[in-house]
Amino acid sequence: AKYLGRNNTQFYSPALTQEAMRRLNMESNLRRALDSQEFFLVYQPQVDLQTGHIRSVEALIRWVHPQHGLIPPAEFIPLAEDNGLIISIGDWVLRTACRDAARWHAAGFSLEMAVNLSPVQFRNGTLTRKVRDILEETGLDARFLELEITETTLMDESATTLQTLCELQELGVKFSLDDFGTGYSSMSYLRRLPLHNLKVDRSFVSGLPHDAGSLAIIRAIVSLSESMGFTVTAEGVENLEQVKILIQQSCHTLQGYYFSKPVPSDQLPALLGQNWDF
Ligand code: C2E
Ligand code: CA
Ligand code: CA
Ligand code: CA
Repeated sequence: AKYLGRNNTQFYSPALTQEAMRRLNMESNLRRALDSQEFFLVYQPQVDLQTGHIRSVEALIRWVHPQHGLIPPAEFIPLAEDNGLIISIGDWVLRTACRDAARWHAAGFSLEMAVNLSPVQFRNGTLTRKVRDILEETGLDARFLELEITETTLMDESATTLQTLCELQELGVKFSLDDFGTGYSSMSYLRRLPLHNLKVDRSFVSGLPHDAGSLAIIRAIVSLSESMGFTVTAEGVENLEQVKILIQQSCHTLQGYYFSKPVPSDQLPALLGQNWDF
């Protein structure tokens, strides 16, 4: 049976039914998960190469399902995007991340907070108001909020998405373009949109130090960023060899297991004093 391709899934009838049931089940569970507080955020440090300190953290959502345990976001975010639940989940993520950031600020750490946004969150025209409300409610200054968007969001080119990007920029919020290099090949949008930072996708970093193609792409992204006035973050940095090459290539910020895995909020303050020597 394992030789059968995608078009022959009818032979998998029992497994297929199970998968469909799992999906259905997950969907109804997802609806309740917010109310029953099954989500939490973990934060992964982003290290500034100039200072060796943590400059910002990226908020990443986690779901602990009462029966299935930890479900990775790659499994439930696409589902939540399909059924629209990403709107309320996304609100919760923003509010929680901003609240935590404001708390760390009050404790004397002026960290930036990076939050992932789904293209779906841009579509209904209410995002600006929500972000403004959440910043006001939590007391976090807009300049400490960085929104991570993907090329999919930019390719939308709907008037609503473009307008929202500009409104948010006017609020003082920054934009980082996530997974850069994996999406569309047209880069004309880079000129037109209020971007601040490009995040080199992990797939290029993981090719280092041996893959010459990955290195060439990283070099090109850094050079492009310099001429556009963007900073560059490399994600998925796992070892010192990669760190050294990325420093050599003049990346500004590094993120990855080499520095820290994403950690729950109570474990972050212990990391903030850390200083990496390059
Ligand atoms: P992403 O935004 O590209 O996030 C980076 C992913 O790489 C995270 O996976 C992170 O845990 C993982 N990672 C970080 N450093 C390393 C490393 O050194 N090596 C390896 N192998 N992996 C590393 P995670 O947390 O499972 O998130 C997966 C994706 O789910 C994210 O990719 C993002 O697209 C989405 N996601 C996560 N949280 C949210 C959220 O709050 N909202 C939205 N809309 N999407 C989210
Ligand atoms: Ca991200
Ligand atoms: Ca990414
Ligand atoms: Ca990704």
